Amino acid sequence: MRSVVCEMDLHTRRLETECGMADPFSFSDNLGPKKIIHVHNPAEGLRGILVIDNVAIGPSIGGLRMAPDVSLEECFRLARAMTLKNAAAGLPHGGGKSVLFGDPAMESAKKEKLVRCMAATLREETDYIFGPDMGTNETCMAWVKDEIGRAVGLPAALGGIPLDEIGATGFGIMHACDVALASAGIPFAGARIALQGFGAVGKHAARFLSEKGALVCAVSDTKGSAINANGLDVQALIELKRTGRSVTDLPGAQIQSADEIIGVDCDVLIPAARPDVIRESNVESVRAKLVVSGANIPMTPGAEKRLHEKGILYVPDFIANAGGVICAAMEYAGSTKTAAFDAISEKVRANTEEVIRMSKRDGILPRQAAVDLAMRRLKHAMTVRRFGIF
Ligand code: NAD
Repeated sequence: MRSVVCEMDLHTRRLETECGMADPFSFSDNLGPKKIIHVHNPAEGLRGILVIDNVAIGPSIGGLRMAPDVSLEECFRLARAMTLKNAAAGLPHGGGKSVLFGDPAMESAKKEKLVRCMAATLREETDYIFGPDMGTNETCMAWVKDEIGRAVGLPAALGGIPLDEIGATGFGIMHACDVALASAGIPFAGARIALQGFGAVGKHAARFLSEKGALVCAVSDTKGSAINANGLDVQALIELKRTGRSVTDLPGAQIQSADEIIGVDCDVLIPAARPDVIRESNVESVRAKLVVSGANIPMTPGAEKRLHEKGILYVPDFIANAGGVICAAMEYAGSTKTAAFDAISEKVRANTEEVIRMSKRDGILPRQAAVDLAMRRLKHAMTVRRFGIF
């Protein structure tokens, strides 16, 4: 049975849908979204959304998220975040995001059928390149590639660069920290680092930072925080997580609640777990001199403003955590892992420097500087496109 595709082309304001969704025009602006597609195939149990936000710079790259409950507006916000992240990173790609509704832990054969069906339905949407996201992984991308030939985040056997395995995002975080520390006049060697979250981003950031001479003095996961002012054994922490245990099982560390990490005395705090973890209600407890965002939107706008007022420099998420998508874009271009690491270091360092410089020069929030940087590139691209926008 053919999947039903309800498509809205927001550029021409053409609406071809009877899906009864929220009014998409309520959040559209002159950047996008270019297109929203609702996919529905009752026979296969398939329901999904694709938002292609802006492709002025090139075909969009963005993750396929598998989750039971993501709204259209949330999907749009994630797609917009990719537009800004890809533009800021100087990648030849626009921003998009897709959602496949369902429990990501479902039985593998059923998941494969749904992922393949979603990809096949969107075969003609060449302005969107699938990537992994929450609930999907490199195996899912291999299925997508097999169906339509268009995916990043592939297994190494298919020419992919396994970005979580090599720690692409953590590598970029390390470079963002290096630049931010230098701008604050804090030596990298011995700089005290606290990381919230010890998953794909957090553990690799800890690894690269400690290898370069920083002191990882606090880490946390959902079970709690492990703290030692003299430094934690990062390899032992990685081994604990590899064997399914918690960072709180590390011998010799002082163990506190998960939330305590926010107020730990350190030079750099790296939130690398969940959104909105630094907010108005706890921002006063931050004792770090710098905050470098590993997670997406780990701080509320109010908390970012307050940090800035307190003279605590922060590096916004889509500047500091762009390593993963830079790696994905390099993979798509057929590059090697070494070239991907070089690109991450070059782009994350240059953007962190530029955002700090603009923020100081213009007296604006680092986030505003980051958005201005991305918009400058995006608007330039839009002026040289024949049909202008989106
Ligand atoms: P992950 O699932 O591998 O790891 C998340 C970690 O956070 C786990 O250790 C988990 O225990 C911990 N955690 C969850 N809630 C917590 C809490 N309340 N307190 C402390 N720890 C908590 O995820 P990830 O890939 O490392 O991604 C982390 C964040 O970074 C997400 O926001 C993700 O969107 C973002 N991000 C990831 C990448 C990437 O390349 N993986 C790239 C850019 C942004």
